[in-house]
Amino acid sequence: LYNRRVRDFKVSDSFLTFFIKICNMILIRFQSGNACREMKEVTGMMIREQLELRETEILSPYASFSRESRGREREEEECDIRPVFQRDRDRILHSKAFRRLRQKTQVFLQPMGDHYRTRLTHTLEVSQNARTIAKALRLNEDLVEAIALGHDLGHTPFGHAGERALNEVCELGFKHNEQSVRVVEVLEKQGKGLNLTWEVRDGIRNHKSSGRPATLEGKLVQLSDKIAYINHDIDDAVRGGILKEEDLPSEYTDILGHSSKARLNRMVHDVITQSMDRPEIHMSDEVWKAMRGLRQYLFEHVYLNPVAKGEEAKVMHMITNLYHIYMEKPELMPEQFLNMLENGTASREQIACDYIAGMTDSYAVHTFEEYFIPKCWKN
Ligand code: MG
Repeated sequence: LYNRRVRDFKVSDSFLTFFIKICNMILIRFQSGNACREMKEVTGMMIREQLELRETEILSPYASFSRESRGREREEEECDIRPVFQRDRDRILHSKAFRRLRQKTQVFLQPMGDHYRTRLTHTLEVSQNARTIAKALRLNEDLVEAIALGHDLGHTPFGHAGERALNEVCELGFKHNEQSVRVVEVLEKQGKGLNLTWEVRDGIRNHKSSGRPATLEGKLVQLSDKIAYINHDIDDAVRGGILKEEDLPSEYTDILGHSSKARLNRMVHDVITQSMDRPEIHMSDEVWKAMRGLRQYLFEHVYLNPVAKGEEAKVMHMITNLYHIYMEKPELMPEQFLNMLENGTASREQIACDYIAGMTDSYAVHTFEEYFIPKCWKN
């Protein structure tokens, strides 16, 4: 009957097709809306529980399993959809400190080009490299991503110049990895912190060369950080005219490759083949030594190059003076920081560092101008 009617009435044909499509869409919506509840009814498990179970089926025995996490400082009700590390990743992504990374220096101070790396794009490249390797090694990609996205949250404005300035002026010292932990434990959410799992905080705290992360995922981010910055800092240095590809020592590039793409590819493949089905994250001796050599070359020719670092003395001057003014007049800081001072939950030195380290490059310049540069007289 339907076919005959369609043959007889061409307009009805298109109308009926449209009607059936709409019905299908409504049905799909209804089904997905109830997916979580239905799945629990059918299998007796929530989506999170199914994902946790899937981890035990898919991941390497050396991976960190979400259901075996050492947990959070404050107990919380579990999410019905996301396992703990996935949830931590989302918390970091939605944090204010993460958004501020887009206006923080990676290597080149306030570069005038749109294509230089910032602390945010560096972070994303670390995450991308680490996730590629984690997937190949069947490690926990959510944990890797959470550690990678959080590892530089505590970085000062103006990169390592800013870090050096705070470290010199503050008698407590300053390290960006420890500050990253402070951001997620204390400073975010108006002093409540993000209450992340132990594994994510351990990976963030230990991401520097001197650190010893407890998980393979933490070790992978530690290595991926180096792989990322060595490759993208060369790319930016070439872009900035500080060096040419041909300047790089051939003893290293003959091993690693003669372009950023080739070197990144070589390093990532090397980590995967050397670490497959092993309880360690490894590189071959040959690639490791070449990578270390290239890193040393970067220190001598890029990080300490007077062209790239010509403005660093000004950064040191600015950060040092900001520190002194907040030590003398803490009332200039926002309420959250004053509350910490009044409650006695942190020292004045720590709070001044907290506030300055959280600034973006542009905000630090603006604040310095506000306090130390005379304003134009306006009628
Ligand atoms: Mg980093």
